[in-house]
Amino acid sequence: MALKRIVIIGGGFAGSDLARRLQRKLSKDWEVLLYSRENHFVFTPLLPEVVGAAINPLHVVWPIREMARGATCRTAEVRALHLDEQKIEYLGPNGETLTENYDHLILGCGLAVNLDLIPGLRDHGWALKTLGDALVLRNHVIQQLERAEAEPTAERRAEFLSFAVVGGGFTGVEVAGSIRDMLSESARFYKRFTVEDIRVTILEGGPRVLGPLPESLSSYAHRKLESSGIDVRTNVKVTEIKADGVQLGEDEFLNAGTVIGSIGNTMQRLLSESNLASERGRLLVEPSMRVQGRTDVWAFGDCAAVPNAYDDSISPTLGQFAVRQSKQMAANLIATIKGKELTPFSYHTRGMFAAIGHGRAVGNPFGVKISGFIAYMMWRAIYWSKMPSIARRTQIAFDWSWDLLFRRDIVELSTVTTSDLKDPSAP
Ligand SMILES: Cc1cc2nc3c(=O)[nH]c(=O)nc-3n(C[C@H](O)[C@H](O)[C@H](O)COP(=O)(O)OP(=O)(O)OC[C@H]3O[C@@H](n4cnc5c(N)ncnc54)[C@H](O)[C@@H]3O)c2cc1C
Repeated sequence: MALKRIVIIGGGFAGSDLARRLQRKLSKDWEVLLYSRENHFVFTPLLPEVVGAAINPLHVVWPIREMARGATCRTAEVRALHLDEQKIEYLGPNGETLTENYDHLILGCGLAVNLDLIPGLRDHGWALKTLGDALVLRNHVIQQLERAEAEPTAERRAEFLSFAVVGGGFTGVEVAGSIRDMLSESARFYKRFTVEDIRVTILEGGPRVLGPLPESLSSYAHRKLESSGIDVRTNVKVTEIKADGVQLGEDEFLNAGTVIGSIGNTMQRLLSESNLASERGRLLVEPSMRVQGRTDVWAFGDCAAVPNAYDDSISPTLGQFAVRQSKQMAANLIATIKGKELTPFSYHTRGMFAAIGHGRAVGNPFGVKISGFIAYMMWRAIYWSKMPSIARRTQIAFDWSWDLLFRRDIVELSTVTTSDLKDPSAP
């Protein structure tokens, strides 16, 4: 008998967790097939620590096929949805177009970074979304230090040593704090500049950083970021990003050799081309997460505007929501297969944390405001407990112990191969 098939698109918080849950719950006549661009799940909350060289990059990712052992995992880009034929189209390993049928299609493909949000971001800015982004940015920051050391003129050196982060939300604050920590610890190994020559600036459009947290935690974070050497600017409008800095409004230009964009998401092209109804870049779904107007297509995680029955709001784009939605999605799929009633998604957030560098964090677990070193240890403990395997937890615990005792590793992960080193003038 031919197996019935659930196809999941996306191996992030939502998709990989769902594949793991379904393998335990489905009867043997169903198979789960997961498509993802990468063969690994990325634990995004720790990407800023990768950029700041506090964590080994491989320790924040995990092979999806090891997380969801019963599922069939294909590392391939899904290119088109043919919903009326219950078929998806994906890119084969030789560039050919292949298709696969489904009985239920689950869309968990997240959001893409909107590189067109600010003029110049695509050409001169750095994004932070994937493991590749974090690795390349980490290397770039270290290379900027090396360039500054090799640069004889003070003016050019200042450009190499200035970093601007656009957006003072969770990602912006965490990446600025992490980079600042690495730069502060590493400056002593260089002779041509000191830590005072390094400039890290956060540029926030709103009145305060970490907007979703209570105001007192925002202002604590603001003060502590500044005391650790980060210039925090609020109510500023970034109008253009150039090779040598950031245009603020019409009249001001901030020199910065590196500009990191931590704002702006957009719909994945796969979904924007699908004709499925959406609002503000997210698919419209029913409270059960079934896509509006479809019985066999579902969506969750960042890519869907999932109504939260707990407080009648739309779920935010957060990993903790994606994982909770996955739990409800698994239950609703099983209910559908068994002809039972569907349950709306409902979740009360446990609170949020942001690491702000220098061994400090702010957070509001269960509505209780905490800050400083204790918050930082809680931040670490919570994320540590969420890592997908004992192996990764051990590795992260080792990384963090190392970070307490030793300086951060400023080895540039060079990808130069022997053939790259060939003397071009050699015969
Ligand atoms: C730097 C950073 C820090 C963050 N920190 C936190 C935090 O501290 N706490 C928190 O709760 N949330 C945090 N988030 C948000 C969190 O990462 C997202 O909410 C979460 O990843 C959403 O999960 P998802 O599965 O919906 O999407 P994603 O995790 O983005 O996964 C999408 C998946 O879909 C795949 N995909 C996309 N298109 C296709 C296609 N066409 N074909 C095949 N595969 C495709 C991608 O490869 C990817 O595997 C952070 C995000 C970032 C970027």
